[in-house]
Amino acid sequence: MPESGESSETADPPPRRRKAHLAPLPVLALLALALGWFWRGDDAGAVREFEVMRTYARIAIPAGSGSHLPASDLADLAEKAVREVDALMSPFGGDSDVRRLNEAPAGAWVEVNPLTWRVVMEALRWHRLSEGAFDPTIGPVKGLFQFNRTEVDSWPDAQTLAEARERVGAEKLLFDREGMRLSWERDGMILDLGAIAKGFAVDRAAEVIAAQGVKNAIIDVGGELRLLGQKPGEPPAPWRVGIRHPRDEGRTLETLELSGQAVATSGDYENFFVHQGRRYEHIIDPRSGLPLTGGAASVTVIHPQSCLAADAMATTLCVLGSDQIDEFMRRQARGLFSRGVRAIVLLVGPDGGLRRREFNLDQAGALRIEDNPVGEGE
Ligand code: ADP
Ligand code: MG
Repeated sequence: MPESGESSETADPPPRRRKAHLAPLPVLALLALALGWFWRGDDAGAVREFEVMRTYARIAIPAGSGSHLPASDLADLAEKAVREVDALMSPFGGDSDVRRLNEAPAGAWVEVNPLTWRVVMEALRWHRLSEGAFDPTIGPVKGLFQFNRTEVDSWPDAQTLAEARERVGAEKLLFDREGMRLSWERDGMILDLGAIAKGFAVDRAAEVIAAQGVKNAIIDVGGELRLLGQKPGEPPAPWRVGIRHPRDEGRTLETLELSGQAVATSGDYENFFVHQGRRYEHIIDPRSGLPLTGGAASVTVIHPQSCLAADAMATTLCVLGSDQIDEFMRRQARGLFSRGVRAIVLLVGPDGGLRRREFNLDQAGALRIEDNPVGEGE
């Protein structure tokens, strides 16, 4: 067995502001505005909030969810599902699949849970689809930086960066389908499912409660959401979800009305540092081996079924940046994307002005792009 590898990347993370602490609900990137949501009937519904995956989670089961089980039992089931995904895929926790893999020497096979397997296979699919922009092995480079919202003077030297980059590359993650086993082609590699696991946790919780008959609910893990069904009422109404202004925490830029979809947002305003006047965010461009800077301030993806796909795609579009998003969306329009996918990209210009670019893939597979400046008063 390998030594437990307490490298800087696998050790417990330094304390950093959690979204749950730094962001009370009104300032979250995406926030389910369950406004005007009144409990009805005998069962009062349930709202469950907890910290998990270094962020917050919020599960809201309304009265009239559609299930015969009490709302608090359903909230228990959903919370358990989210915590199970965390226990399997956290890079830090106990003997999670991810930690066991990250501590294994090159060539050793590590058997993983079927849920972990599903997420890793999806991560590798997004790696291919994005032609390498999405890379779940980015950990060694990410570990060289601290994204704690402060001004940072130091920068890793070229040799350190080059050495870390040699330990990145999803093609060096080997897999054995039959045995659901994973293995590294070289030592020192790090699996990081941070860009996809929260979306999956949301899907998993949705799956578990839907199996109990739930038709209407909100599941939110760190701003990645599933809006099941509708807000019960007379008549039922769509759920309302706010997209936050990426430079003004208190401001909601627009409100989406959703029924049944998944939503995920990636952006440069939660986890970042500033170096020589530039903002660097916690998403790494595997092609440069450096944290993103000067790209989209936020990308929100609305997906008809899958929060995992929305989560992976939001991160992917951030890496691609404004120059390549158009081409990527056009290329995929007739390909693998489900119909009904939308992406809302917010770009900050050199003068600080905000531009909103929306990509909409309609049911016929046609791509529409709308581009507008965001006015001050909106
Ligand atoms: P958030 O965690 O705020 O929802 P994302 O879903 O965009 O944001 O995930 C960002 C995380 O994904 C990073 O903290 C890191 O763990 C991981 N990551 C960074 N760069 C990449 C990349 N190019 N491909 C895949 N995962 C990445
Ligand atoms: Mg993501």
